[in-house]
Amino acid sequence: MAIYDRLLTPLRVGATLLPNRMVMGAMHTRLETLDRPHERLAAFYAARAAGEIGLILSGGFSPNPEGVMETGGPLFNRAEQIDEHRAVTRAVHESGGRIVLQILHAGRYAKVPECVGPTGAKARINAYAPRALSTQEVRATIDDFARTAALAVQAGYDGVEIMGSEGYLINEFTAAVTNARDDEFGGSFAGRIRFALDIVRAVRAQMGREPMLIYRISSIDLVEGGMSGVEIAAFAKEIEAAGADLINTGVGWHESAVPTIAACVPRAAWRDAIRNVKEAVSIPVMASNRINTPEVAEELIASGVADLVSMARPLLADPDFAKKTRLGMADEINTCIGCNQACLDRIFTERTATCLVNPRAGREIEFAAGKALQPKRIAVVGGGPAGMAFAINAAERGHTLTLFEAHARLGGQLNLAKVVPGKAEFHEMLRYFEVRLKRLGVTLRLGQAATADELASEAFDEIIIATGVIPRMPDIVGADHPKAVSYIDVLAGQVEVGARVAIVGAGGIGFDVAEYLLGDALESLDRGAFFRAWGVDPANADAGGLTRSDAHGAPRRSVHMFQRKEEPLGKGLGKSTGWILKARLRKARVMMTSGVTYDAIDDEGLHYRVDGKPHVLAVDHVVLCAGQNSNRKLYDELVARAAKPKVIGGADVAAELDALRAIDQATRLAMTM
Ligand code: NAP
Ligand code: SF4
Repeated sequence: MAIYDRLLTPLRVGATLLPNRMVMGAMHTRLETLDRPHERLAAFYAARAAGEIGLILSGGFSPNPEGVMETGGPLFNRAEQIDEHRAVTRAVHESGGRIVLQILHAGRYAKVPECVGPTGAKARINAYAPRALSTQEVRATIDDFARTAALAVQAGYDGVEIMGSEGYLINEFTAAVTNARDDEFGGSFAGRIRFALDIVRAVRAQMGREPMLIYRISSIDLVEGGMSGVEIAAFAKEIEAAGADLINTGVGWHESAVPTIAACVPRAAWRDAIRNVKEAVSIPVMASNRINTPEVAEELIASGVADLVSMARPLLADPDFAKKTRLGMADEINTCIGCNQACLDRIFTERTATCLVNPRAGREIEFAAGKALQPKRIAVVGGGPAGMAFAINAAERGHTLTLFEAHARLGGQLNLAKVVPGKAEFHEMLRYFEVRLKRLGVTLRLGQAATADELASEAFDEIIIATGVIPRMPDIVGADHPKAVSYIDVLAGQVEVGARVAIVGAGGIGFDVAEYLLGDALESLDRGAFFRAWGVDPANADAGGLTRSDAHGAPRRSVHMFQRKEEPLGKGLGKSTGWILKARLRKARVMMTSGVTYDAIDDEGLHYRVDGKPHVLAVDHVVLCAGQNSNRKLYDELVARAAKPKVIGGADVAAELDALRAIDQATRLAMTM
């Protein structure tokens, strides 16, 4: 059993003693947009506090109306709001935790027409251009930060975190590229950092010595004209002198063209930038970004990179992360796989955050815990995400479970996902499922396709069908030609794919196959390979930490993707990760054609038409990624025998199936039994 001595060692931060070095990082959940928002937020954070996380950082609250993330976004600037916040701080404290309020002014990223910035220069990721703040308004904004800090303390928060990274207002002042001001808050290095330092001083003066003051610094900007490593170290020293108790680290701006937290980023990739801050100051420094296991966290502290670790998404995935670490149950942690599907992608599309691997996240008040009144014997057929999630949740409620899986190993479609470059974290999802199934005593019948006779003979109380999907065979002449292969055979490594490939179908699987055929599995595992691929200088010698090198070797294959729809390929990909995938495929010179009609696959290759004009693409293989149909054979047989099975996951509805929907549906069904 691994021991996490350093992670579990208490740490004094200012006047506060934290029981361990694990911190839940700030994350905007949009729970405030639902009914009973304060009750939901209180339950959400209380669950993490009960899970023994050392400290919680709230999602960001703007100190004034022009700094909100979006219209109606979190804002804390009036005494009348104190009671709403007290509901949260009380719930956290009663569960044994500590919570600080993050103050975030979104600056020119604020998606509101009245947004402001150091200058009037527009961010490429915002439709609204900011209005340049006058000197007087800059001073008023500093006062706004201080007022919100005072309100936070009155509301029972243990302190505040000042958000100075990710390209928001304060970061826009510190970087030369966005600060061309000619008053005392611009120009020289000293001028650019004055806004941040004045905020820290004003907040400290308002709060007094006792509450925690955390400053989140941008440890590497990843934009041209950002700060250099030398400047960042000097700035960190000034932040310490201005009165901060702890420095948290951020990585990159939201407009950076480098991925910073997606699954394709190696774990703890940003250690050099964080160490640069740590070596400059004597107060504690917190590491962040792509830290998702106790092993990674412990190593960062052991190697002197940081004193604590901040994890936001991993605490969505498992509220008991810290408790399981303390109890030696790290292998039972439901690990964040960095997919962004249910958290960031939902927030960026104006929905509320939850978690793909933990559908309870953010919906704590909807999921009643507890044992079933009447324990049952339940058969689950299918060992993919839906079947495994159902079995675990039902077993936790006290039922006796038998899980049938036709293949020799569990996982279903997850076994295909985990071989795609950048998706190695799916191994952790499988590990979690396997360990939990074993600990809960679920009987596994692997390599055994359950039959209707067998299920009938064992007289189960309930039968759950989670038999998944079967690939759709497109109606193309020659779809059975030897050149035509299924994505399953490709991802399972059963086909020696040639150098020239056509991909029919450009959904999530089509893109996965393209990445598999062209991508570099090392990129998400090896920091050097990742930095080379994305042009990052981890030492940040030059301003911003970019190398401007865009050297790409010849792609290992020639790949051409097709779809029948007229729209651009990849429209349905995740908002926070689709751009990464498309950028990589662009670099690998992948051709993408939409609005096609398929004519045939034959010895010559793929015959297709665009606008009625015929084309032939000479290829070695055509990979069919044309979606899936539900595998309901067993379900239909059981229904025909008057049994009453329940069906979940892809076997229920194949269209737009993903692990998020499968796990959510399975978990909800288990709660009803
Ligand atoms: P999908 O998203 O439904 O895409 C199927 C593709 O095949 C579409 O591009 C469609 O485009 C094409 N197609 C459909 N019927 C066809 C036919 N009869 N002949 C030729 N082409 C046809 O399915 P998928 O790619 O298999 O993915 C399945 C699910 O897994 C999706 O919900 C997906 O989101 C999820 N997934 C997600 C990820 C991720 O990273 N988030 C990765 C993999 C899979 P046209 O109809 O325009 O030709
Ligand atoms: Fe992590 Fe994905 Fe869950 Fe987000 S949805 S917390 S990235 S596992």
